[in-house]
Formats: sequence, C-alpha cells, structure tokens
Amino acid sequence: MDLIVARNREDLVKARGGGEVALVPTMGALHEGHRSLMRLARSRADQVVVSVFVNPLQFGPNEDFSRYPRTFDSDLDVCRAEGVDVVFHPSVDDMYLPDRQVSLLAGRMGEIVEGESRPGHFDGVLTVVLKLFNLVQPSVAVFGQKDAQQLALIRRMVADLDVPVEIVGAPTVREHDGLALSSRNRYLSEDDRQVALALSRALRAGEAERRPGAIREAAREVLAAAGPRLDLDYVVLVDPATFSEVGEEHAGEAVLAVAARIGATRLIDNVILNLNPA
Ligand code: AMP
Repeated sequence: MDLIVARNREDLVKARGGGEVALVPTMGALHEGHRSLMRLARSRADQVVVSVFVNPLQFGPNEDFSRYPRTFDSDLDVCRAEGVDVVFHPSVDDMYLPDRQVSLLAGRMGEIVEGESRPGHFDGVLTVVLKLFNLVQPSVAVFGQKDAQQLALIRRMVADLDVPVEIVGAPTVREHDGLALSSRNRYLSEDDRQVALALSRALRAGEAERRPGAIREAAREVLAAAGPRLDLDYVVLVDPATFSEVGEEHAGEAVLAVAARIGATRLIDNVILNLNPA
C-alpha cells in the first residue's frame, strides 16, 4: 500500500483502516532514532501512523519554534522506506481552534528538572499528545527514552486520565561516538559537536560508579572538563517514574539525565542505571 499523507483531520478519518493502530508522534526532521520507533510501532499493530507536527505550544517565547528544522519531503521518504501507512501532517490552524480555551497541566512533575528550564513545555506536550491520541485513536503509541521525562509524564497522563492507549518506550539511538541522535544536532558545527560529546561521556562516567553521590559527581566532572563552551543546565539522578532526585540509599532503576547548551543549541541526554542495594 502507498503511503497516505493526511494534512487535516478529515483526511485522517478517511485514512484510518479497520485494525489496530500504532502512533509515533514526532516533530519531523526524522533520523534513525525516529526510524527505530517506527519499526517498534510496525511490530505492534496493523497500521502505523506517524505524526509530523512542530507543536507551538511546547516552545517557550525564547526557544527555537520558528527555526526548528522542517524537512517534510525527506521525512516522507523516511516514512515510505519504513513502510509507514499514514503520515499525519496538520497545520497549526488545523490543530488548534482560534478560540481554544482548554489545555492540560502537567502538574508538579512538569515543573521540575527539564520543566524548570522550560516552563509550560510539558503542558504543551501533553496537550498535543492527548489531541493526537483522540484524533488517531491508536491502541499503542511509541515514545523515545531520549526524552525520559516526557515519556514518564505521558505514562502519568495515561494513568491519571484513564487514556486507553498503551505507551511503549524505545531505547535511545546514538551515533558511533555516543552522541544521542536529535533533530537539533544539525545546528551543531563540527567544533560544537566535539563539545557536545561530553554529554554522553558524562553519562558513561556516571554509569561506572555505584552510588548516587559518586554518579552525579563523576558526570559533573566530565561536563566541567568540557570547558566554557558547554553551558551546563543540570545533572540529576532521578526516579524514572517521578523524576524526583533519588537518595544515597536508593536501589533499583534511576535515570541520570543531563542538559546543556552548546552555543545556541540546547541538548539533553540520559541513561537508565540499575542501582544495587547497599
Ligand atoms: P521529536 O521529533 O524530537 O519530538 O521526537 C519524536 C520522538 O522520537 C520522541 O518520542 C523522542 O523521544 C523520540 N526520539 C528522539 N530522538 C531519539 C533517539 N535518539 N533515539 C530514540 N528515540 C528518539
């Protein structure tokens, strides 16, 4: 079957098949990370829908909404190559009514860590994801662990609001040198890219330690050694479900997450650690 491009909600209704649907929400500028999500989606349902929508609600006033990469033609080639059934690519006006009033609040969990640096970001993410769920009506939706707090909040939303969609998390896809793939990597110069490698190096340094204090310290040391071109935002070691900092006696899974600005580009990365009891 040929790829169907649905540019508005009417097209989307027409494109919907009879069986189970797996949804992969994206903002486009698709890369290998997105492709891995599509493959996972393919293994889980009869029809795969990929949404490509740069969501203005999740960008702050000083963020990169207008210059966010938009590469729709090559995104379609990627989706075609991955055997995607439907690409949903609505305009902002088609998604958001001019007189819209109601939106979701992510709550306290949306205000910490990444949410502290990006006020309102997760409210915008949850609002668009719930709208996409209602429009596409998938039984499964696939999200990357690369955006660990987003994944945790979507799981929280689905639980709190009884949303009948199974949430599947997918591992982070990296370049050979460790840099996590991101649509924003294309902003990086070759020099920036070398500095950006400190993020994944810091996570690996943390992985080599056993206790929370030492894990945070090892990661911070690597980031400090990257020099003044890396402007560190945070290094945290948090509970994967709540994103609150774990204590020194924590056992079980924890997420070591980092965010930093390199020039004008803000990058995030994380790794899941399994801490053994003391
Ligand atoms: P984005 O287009 O950046 O909003 O991302 C769309 C989806 O792709 C989200 O669920 C991301 O977590 C996921 N994603 C982004 N980068 C990666 C990566 N390097 N590996 C796996 N998933 C990713």
